Amino acid sequence: LVSRENHPERSTVRVGGVPIGPGTLTLIAGPCAVETPEQTLEAALMARAAGAGLLRGGAYKPRTSPYAFQGLGEAGLRILADVRAETGLPIVTEVVDAHDVDLVASYADMLQVGTRNAQNFGLLQAVGAAGRPVMLKRGMSATIEEWLMAAEYIAQRGNLDIVLCERGIRTFETATRNTLDVSAVPVAQRLSHLPVIVDPSHSGGRRDLVMPLSRAAIAAGADGVIIDVHPHPERALCDGPQALVREDLEELATVIDTFAPLM
Ligand code: PEP
Repeated sequence: LVSRENHPERSTVRVGGVPIGPGTLTLIAGPCAVETPEQTLEAALMARAAGAGLLRGGAYKPRTSPYAFQGLGEAGLRILADVRAETGLPIVTEVVDAHDVDLVASYADMLQVGTRNAQNFGLLQAVGAAGRPVMLKRGMSATIEEWLMAAEYIAQRGNLDIVLCERGIRTFETATRNTLDVSAVPVAQRLSHLPVIVDPSHSGGRRDLVMPLSRAAIAAGADGVIIDVHPHPERALCDGPQALVREDLEELATVIDTFAPLM
């Protein structure tokens, strides 16, 4: 279903009216985690100023440590809905448990499946049946074939509104959090008709790498980028070191404005 063999035209997925696909360069931006109404609104305004069409923000956070901030849950979803009403930005947010899919889908414009759940087949089937577009991150140790098969689980439930997101893979390199597999962009686009975007924030794990990796993703033909921004990353409850700050927004906006018309 997701293969390009029987579907040679590349697909466009619309999220709250915002297109992601060939001919677009969609910026999705926002905080890694929803922390407070003020922080989420400030981050959303930063995202919109940089040219974002969609707001990201996690209310359910899949953390390595059970002692780390796990997200605000439904209270976070309510904050996202308020910020959407205030800014007009449709919401992309992660769901980590099949039991929460209907609840998250009742607030979200797009459901995100994260790298740690990229082969949680029950969750993939549940989001496939939820009636919302899905952003599927690549599993951190998944081959491109495994990633596309994960997408197939969603598609099998009747949902072809799937956007693939390359977010870096595990390699021997420790200088970066993950290694951005730039080649995955054209390879996945050749094998599948689904749009492919890149998350340079979770790939590098470092603010100073976000713009170079964004440029690399765009040069490789990505249909969009998803980027963490935070008004006060030094106080962030999750992934502060990779969040862009206000001073970075001009460069981000310039990159989007320059390359979007060329896609
Ligand atoms: C995220 O985007 O909030 C996230 C946790 O990303 P990943 O699943 O790629 O680590």
